[in-house]
Amino acid sequence: MANLRWDDDADEVDGRARLTALEHTRRLLARAAALYAPFSCPATAECCVLATSSRPPWVWPTEWALVLEALKAQGRAVPGPRADGACRLLGDDGRCTIYGARPFGCRTFFCHRRTGPTHEPTAAVHALDDELTRLNVGLDPTAAPLPLEARLRSAGG
Ligand code: SF4
Repeated sequence: MANLRWDDDADEVDGRARLTALEHTRRLLARAAALYAPFSCPATAECCVLATSSRPPWVWPTEWALVLEALKAQGRAVPGPRADGACRLLGDDGRCTIYGARPFGCRTFFCHRRTGPTHEPTAAVHALDDELTRLNVGLDPTAAPLPLEARLRSAGG
């Protein structure tokens, strides 16, 4: 199915195709998280300060739909910008407020202060990234990833 719309008018979306795509995305994101399970980091949330981090997450439409779904489940609107340049989805406690729905880029950020295995699972990450691309382009040939902040801004936050 081409040109699915995710975030502006749910009535125009094929419901079954949407659910299948979102479930596929959830499984894919879980696999990305599993790749990094052997690693740990000091959890300073510096990677969430998108104004200065070297690798802001670029988010595909199906990932963005999961972010919106998580906000809706919490009864929240898209939050406004933060004065410190951090991601709008970062909580005051320094933790991601939509952690279970955080995008692929947030799950695969490789901080130099991590501990664990010597090497990053680069090949497996690229394979999952390719799968996420195929999923989204297969649904909508015009789909493209956008920086998370751009999606939040365009959603009116
Ligand atoms: S979505 Fe969550 S993990 Fe990703 S940058 Fe924002 S606060 Fe950090």
